[in-house]
Amino acid sequence: MFRFSSIKDYHAALTADTTTCTQAVKYYLDQIAAQAHLNAFLEVFSEEALAQAAALDAARKAGKSLGKLHGVVIGIKDVLNYKGHKATAASKILENYTAVYTATAIQKLLDQDAIIIGRQNCDEFAMGSSNENSAYGPVKNGLDPTKVPGGSSGGSAVSVQANLCMISIGSDTGGSVRQPADFCGVVGLKPSYGRISRYGLIAYASSFDQIGIFSKTIEDAALVLEMMAGEDNFDSTVSSSAVPSYSNEIEVQASPQKVAYFKETLFHPGLDPEIKTKIENYLKDLQHKGYIVEAIDFSLLSYLVPTYYVLTTAEASSNLSRFDGIKFGHRTKENIEDLTDLYKKSRTEGFGEEVQRRILLGTFVLSAGYFDAYFTKAQQVRQKLVDLTNAVFSKYDIIVSPTVPSTAFTLGANNHTPTEMFLADIYTVYANLVGIPAISIPLFTHSNGMPFGLQVMSASFNETNMLSFSKQQMLDKAD
Ligand code: GLN
Repeated sequence: MFRFSSIKDYHAALTADTTTCTQAVKYYLDQIAAQAHLNAFLEVFSEEALAQAAALDAARKAGKSLGKLHGVVIGIKDVLNYKGHKATAASKILENYTAVYTATAIQKLLDQDAIIIGRQNCDEFAMGSSNENSAYGPVKNGLDPTKVPGGSSGGSAVSVQANLCMISIGSDTGGSVRQPADFCGVVGLKPSYGRISRYGLIAYASSFDQIGIFSKTIEDAALVLEMMAGEDNFDSTVSSSAVPSYSNEIEVQASPQKVAYFKETLFHPGLDPEIKTKIENYLKDLQHKGYIVEAIDFSLLSYLVPTYYVLTTAEASSNLSRFDGIKFGHRTKENIEDLTDLYKKSRTEGFGEEVQRRILLGTFVLSAGYFDAYFTKAQQVRQKLVDLTNAVFSKYDIIVSPTVPSTAFTLGANNHTPTEMFLADIYTVYANLVGIPAISIPLFTHSNGMPFGLQVMSASFNETNMLSFSKQQMLDKAD
């Protein structure tokens, strides 16, 4: 039977002729069908993936040069445009939308011979922390289907967790890769803002959004990041700085040693006591191993979630204005004469409750009378956070924290108050507010049986530090 442990091992097996790309694709198609109840995929590109696999097998046998992601089977969150395929953002408003171009990040994967196996379920327009906001039904956690997988990239996380593909590509605006990775026990990486082109990613909050990666290993995440990163004429916010060879660098660079953590993160009242104890013990252990581990005061912790929700909803209210039933998206079938009424009716029918709530909130914080009190204030807090972060990284290599204050919660349990749900983002939104890279690595298991992760962050554009440190932690865990 086909088995996947890492891209490197898979490539070795292909070279040794003990497996083929076709076998791999067939295995994943079977798994997706067998675990359809998880609702991780919105659409599977079966025939296309099989045809691509056959072509790659033939090319390999003919001795052609192979892409770095030769035959790697990848699922993509349904917020990424892939030409000729539907892209719905898990919303009814885009139910019938077919992408007319391919996102740069996806094109770069295809250029390295990756196989895209399908598009994955998520919260509508990537807004949510549990994947319960999808217009196509919730995703279930593969370890316990009564639990949520996290969100918004829940389908992508579960796909890696439950062996439905090798790698998933998600998006992370405030934790949507790291939080579901934590809940599902897989690796979830959000790079620095501007490391990967956002061209072709359906926008939620443009100054926060980044494309991210789910994998089983740090090495795979490093390789896929290396392939997707880099400049792009279609995204003015992407960095033109050279992309390091992360996959080689983490082979040679030893783990950085200077680790900081924010004191307040461990004293937050919402933090599960067992997660707190396990992280505290882990930090002590790091010290015993010779790392410098120091606590830093972080009085701004309670401002993170409000600042994030003021700024992201403001950006969302602007970004989502294009879905008006005229330029893009569902148009009401009702016979309406007035243009404003047509917009209203189409948008009311097309957007789900959470998306509507955020558009309203965002429009409110941007309105003339409240702009300074909310939007300007939040921008000032964001700048303070950036200054603090620069100061921390002038002394330390790494900041660690829990990824999420709890383990995966029960489906339906947390969706009665939006603010309760927002608190699940307390540790993850920081990295998006300041633009630094962050990763969740599956180090721990709770006594309730569910996994949880450690969040590792490093200075902007220093993904190598974050990846080297994370690789060492995964190795130490395996010992
Ligand atoms: N849970 C956060 C939110 O709902 C993060 C979402 C994301 O990163 N896309 O905004």
